This record gives sequence, C-alpha cells and structure tokens, in this order.
Amino acid sequence: KMTFEQTPFKLSASISAMLHLFHTKVQEKNLTLTRCYDETIPEVLMGDPVRLHQIILNLVSNAVKFTHHGGIEVGVRKLKEDDTQVTIEFAVTDTGMGIRKEKIDTIFENFQQASSSTSRIFGGTGLGLAIVKQLVEAQNGTISVTSEIDKGSTFSFVLDFAKTHALADEEMEMMEVNPELKGIRVLVVEDIALNQLLMKTLLDDFGFERDISANGKIAIEKLAANHYDIVLMDLQMPEMNGFDATDHIRNVMGSDIPIIALTADVTTMDVAKCMAVGMNDYIAKPVNERLLYSKIIGLTSRPRPRMTSAEQTANTMIGRKHIDLTYLVKRTKANTALMIEMIDAYLEQTPALVAAMQQSMLDRNWPMLSASVHKMIPSFSIMGINATFEDMARQVQEYAAKQETPEGIEDMVQLLGEVCTQACRELNEELIRMKTT
Ligand code: ADP
Repeated sequence: KMTFEQTPFKLSASISAMLHLFHTKVQEKNLTLTRCYDETIPEVLMGDPVRLHQIILNLVSNAVKFTHHGGIEVGVRKLKEDDTQVTIEFAVTDTGMGIRKEKIDTIFENFQQASSSTSRIFGGTGLGLAIVKQLVEAQNGTISVTSEIDKGSTFSFVLDFAKTHALADEEMEMMEVNPELKGIRVLVVEDIALNQLLMKTLLDDFGFERDISANGKIAIEKLAANHYDIVLMDLQMPEMNGFDATDHIRNVMGSDIPIIALTADVTTMDVAKCMAVGMNDYIAKPVNERLLYSKIIGLTSRPRPRMTSAEQTANTMIGRKHIDLTYLVKRTKANTALMIEMIDAYLEQTPALVAAMQQSMLDRNWPMLSASVHKMIPSFSIMGINATFEDMARQVQEYAAKQETPEGIEDMVQLLGEVCTQACRELNEELIRMKTT
C-alpha cells in the first residue's frame, strides 16, 4: 500500500537537483544529459516530490545504464492546464541499445527476474520498472514506452498536479534549525546499487556523513573498525541478512547503536521480527526523506534514558522509544497545560482500551475488538507513535470488522498492546518532567 504526500514544491528546481546526481556517471560514460523544460508550467505545484524523484531516478538510471553513445534527454511538457490543475508529461529519451518488441510487452511486469540470484547479487532486481509503473498509476497517471533497436527508447509518463498559491515548502526547513546535527555518521547496509545511490544522495542532502556496505557481514567489519552514530539496515541481502547482522551487533558485539530497518514490503511479521532482534525502528522503502531525517535525528540526538534492567528488557523487546511529542507540541503551540491535559487523557483511556482489545481477542469478540482498536487509532499520531503501529491497528480493525482470523492477528494485538503500554510508561515520565519544569 502506497501513500503519497501533497506538498507544495518547485518542479523545475526539483528536476534539476535530481539530474545533477547523474553528472559524474554521465561524464564517465561520455554521454550528454539534457533537460528540456516547458517554462509555462506554474512554478509551484502540489504533489509528492519524493515519489516523483523515485520515478525519474529509476528511468534516468536505466537510460544511462543502457546507453553507450549519445545521450539522454529529460523532457517536461505541459499537456493541459485549467483553473485547478496541470497535466504534465515527463519523457526520458535515450540513444541507447533499445528494447526488443517481445520484451516491451512485459517490461513493466512485476518480478520479472526477482528469482534470479545473480540479479540480486549484481544489483539489478528487475523490479525497477514495475515499481515505477505502480508509483505512476497509484497517482492516476499513465506510463508508456516506445523503442527501436539500436536507436534508443523513450519512457514517458503523465501526471496531474494541483495548482496552488502556497509557497513551496522550504525543502527540509527543519534541517536548518540545528546545524550541529550535521556530521552524524551513518552506516548504510544495502545491496542494491540504485538504493545505495538514493541513500547516498539523501544523506548528503541532510549533511550527514555516510558509509555504505553491501551486506551484513561487511557492515559488522566496518562497525568493529570505525565509529558510526546509526545504522540503516536493509533486511534481504546476500551473504548475511539484516536480521542476522542485527542479532550479531546486539548480542555478539554488545553494541546498542541505533538501527533502523529498511524494508521493501512491510509485513507485520517483519516488524515484529525487527523489534525482536533489537532494531529500534524501521522505515518502508521507497524511503520518505522527511521521515528518514526525523527518525535519524530522533534516534541519534535524543539522550537515551537510562533504564532499569527490567525496563530495559521490556524495551529491547519492542524498540526503545515510542513517543515523539513533536506533533503535540505543534498542535498545542507548545502550550504545556494543554499538552498535560492531552497526555492525561491518553493515559486515562489507553490502559482500558488495551485491556478491552486483549480480552476481546481472547474471546473472539469481533465487534468489541474492532471498537477498542478503532478508538486507539487517532492517538498514535498525536503521541508520535510510529505510523507502522497505526497501520497495524487499522489492519486489525479491518479484520475484526470482517470477522476474519488471518494468521498473525494475535501477534498484532499483542504487539499493539506492548507498544501502547510502553507509550504510557514513557508518557508518564514525560508528564513528571513537564510538571516539574
Ligand atoms: P533492472 O534494470 O533492475 O533489471 P528494470 O525494471 O529497471 O530492472 O528494467 C528491466 C529491463 O528492461 C532491464 O534489465 C533492461 O533490459 C530493460 N530496459 C529498461 N530500461 C531500458 C532502456 N532505457 N534501454 C534499454 N533497455 C532498458
């Protein structure tokens, strides 16, 4: 399931910044990379610049990969415009090797070569274009390709964007706030070349230092030899996967360096497994850059509270810190009295809801399960609890409404209970702190 942001952004600047990433690669291959931009497109549009980057990045990356002479052109053209929206066509044209007719028909199909282990090891997954198509179609767009052998290919897609009078979101405004946050050392553990590239550019934008390792084994060697502040860990990798690597880091190396899992398909089992091996958080791919930024900052800058050993065991089971009061501070305009009131309300309702949820699971009382989980849902975002758990709660609610018992629902209920209980513990501490300062 994909979610898309609607933020004001500057399309032209966004495309330029992205093409800049290919500068070195294009020079190395002695190719040209040109941009052909329709200046009648309104400067600021509403949309999801991160997703747009992902789409174009995939297409340009392929174009560069499969072209040996000539160049690549990225065209951005307005097809139509009315009072409220603009329809834009993006076209990536290369003078590369082209694609055979038989292949074109299936080129956007899922998992073309996912089973081939060589493609995993050498970086290509065959998933690039399938994801691109999904990203385009999920935004009601269309994508197509034309190609001629030895002449080249054009991949084009069409998307609508709403017009806006808003000013573009100052990219990463939060980042300016705290210059001393720069210099955070990040170890990225990721085997797929395109994802490595994407991570590098994101982390460079954040002003963080980064190092990349292609699997868990290399990561462990690097961790032993160098100092890092945080690890971003892919789960599926050749040689040593993310779960085994984390297990080694926690239990053999005895390190409590924050670890964020990077995962392509978020299943409940994966999340539970991530938490069980001692990861602190996880983020779904394709990565949302703001979310990634705030998670890295959250885990590296917050003084991690000292805990009693009992608390510690409870914590490592389900990740260390669940609440994040940034949103509450914003919502209440930092009004402490109001914040205290809201936290009090949460602390009053949550234990009862958790108990009701757990009891109704035991009793297989679907209406009650659905009702109790439903009441919990809004509080996740208010208290800054990871959106994963909110999604999980929604899933439980859906199943309960359909009176289905899929495998895993009990685990989800269990995990939700633990998370909410832990959140209450943290909020209690926070409350004491707020009342005494
Ligand atoms: P991957 O590149 O990881 O194998 P993609 O889904 O991005 O997966 O591409 C699938 C295949 O489509 C490529 O392996 C390649 O054979 C072909 N292809 C994609 N883009 C181009 C292009 N611009 N020119 C020639 N062939 C291409």
